[in-house]
Amino acid sequence: MSQRPERRGIHVDQSELLCKKGCGYYGNAAWQGLCSKCWREEYQRARQRQIQEDWALAEKLQREEEAAYVSSHSSSQTQPPQSHSQPSLATFSKFEEKKTNEKTRKVTTVKKFFSPSSRTAPKKESHEGKTPSPSITRQSSIETDRASQDFMEFLKTLQKPGREIQKQSRAFIDSMGNKKDLGAEELSECVQDFYQGMSDRLLNHYKGSSEKVDRVMDQVEKYIMTRLYKSVFCPETSDDEKKDLATQRRIRALHWVTIQMLCVPVDEEIPEVSDSVVKAITDVIEMDSKRVPRDKLAFITSCSKHIFNAIRVTKNEPASADDFLPTLIYIVLKANPPRLQSNIQYITRFCNPSRLMTGEDGYYFTNLCCAVAFIEKLDAHSLNLSPEDFERYMSGQASPRRQDDPAAWLQSGSRFNPALSQIHQNLSVLSNLEKRQQQVIEGAQSLQTELAEWQDSVAHEVQEILERYPLEIKSRASAIDAENVENDRLPPPLQPQVFAG
Ligand SMILES: [Zn+2]
Repeated sequence: MSQRPERRGIHVDQSELLCKKGCGYYGNAAWQGLCSKCWREEYQRARQRQIQEDWALAEKLQREEEAAYVSSHSSSQTQPPQSHSQPSLATFSKFEEKKTNEKTRKVTTVKKFFSPSSRTAPKKESHEGKTPSPSITRQSSIETDRASQDFMEFLKTLQKPGREIQKQSRAFIDSMGNKKDLGAEELSECVQDFYQGMSDRLLNHYKGSSEKVDRVMDQVEKYIMTRLYKSVFCPETSDDEKKDLATQRRIRALHWVTIQMLCVPVDEEIPEVSDSVVKAITDVIEMDSKRVPRDKLAFITSCSKHIFNAIRVTKNEPASADDFLPTLIYIVLKANPPRLQSNIQYITRFCNPSRLMTGEDGYYFTNLCCAVAFIEKLDAHSLNLSPEDFERYMSGQASPRRQDDPAAWLQSGSRFNPALSQIHQNLSVLSNLEKRQQQVIEGAQSLQTELAEWQDSVAHEVQEILERYPLEIKSRASAIDAENVENDRLPPPLQPQVFAG
């Protein structure tokens, strides 16, 4: 295990995890390798440019349309020029009016993008077409109620600023209700602007104590995102769902990748290691069940710590970052976490950026993004395979495990993996049980036929006896001596005599 393999294909220089601008924060593929701060600067600049270009284009089109209108009218009409100029002017002024209308509308939308706390009256929209099942609604309303309650309790401890924070958070959530049609990036922009504004004010209030600010911001994030989760997680305007499916398919297609191919320094034969591996897998799957970005991050961090533990116990020395990434890839491949891309996108868009740019949460999250990027481009070289083998395994024509005797593989597999041997044990117990159940069923069936036969035979016997000894009941004569044959030889009956005296 410890021989230094020069065949290792998966390696990331730690500097590659950092923002490309060299600001020292963690970067992210979703932000084209920049950190959240630099990305927002870039994004806003690009957006501003886009808006200006849109305006220029719109104006150009309108000018062209206008010119076309004027020329078509002047060519088709043979009236004298002075009578013609009147309607033309009228249409032109109308045209201008329309243009300014459009402009102001655009300006307000632009303002909306950049000032999330805009005081637009909250429009109570009836729930969109899909109506979730009552139990889900109840569940989610319980969750949001609890989040609100926790938030209030927390704000009470802050006293005066607490009321202000609550007011602004409320107003922000209401304003987001009007922005359901915005794209995912714009929604993210709104939330990030809100975080930024809030933390700037808090920083001012707490006189630069970023620790206090972070504490408050965690609560603000929890409150806001619990409420917004349903409308902004994997929104229909994004292609998150498509990416989820693609990643899921990709991971399924890579099911044959072994721990050895990835050079993962983890020996699952050691119970503590296999325990950590199972916990890591559970954590990365559980991430999907949380609503608050920071809670999701906590699961990624917990997963990563289990991975570090598995490596440490296997190698009997502290794990290095070089060991961590391939192991994380292995865990992700084994877990195939639900909605992985949606979750990553959601965290990227709606987490408080300070948590992603620094600290252990940020570090582990960046590594997870990196692992997913690796899985997408995993090839023969990074798995130390020949391109032909890689193709055959990917297409399912061959499996690396079945190359030699399958029975031998099974055996070595169960020796190698305690979970596998447990499965074998369970299987044999099950087949034993099945056999016994079969026996019981057969016994019951034969007992049933026996019973039926016995019943038949008893009925038959009774019938036979009845036939052999029919029961005859003779009718009896009315006189007592009716059957007495020698009746007439009897002396005459005594006659009553009367004695005188
Ligand atoms: Zn940066």
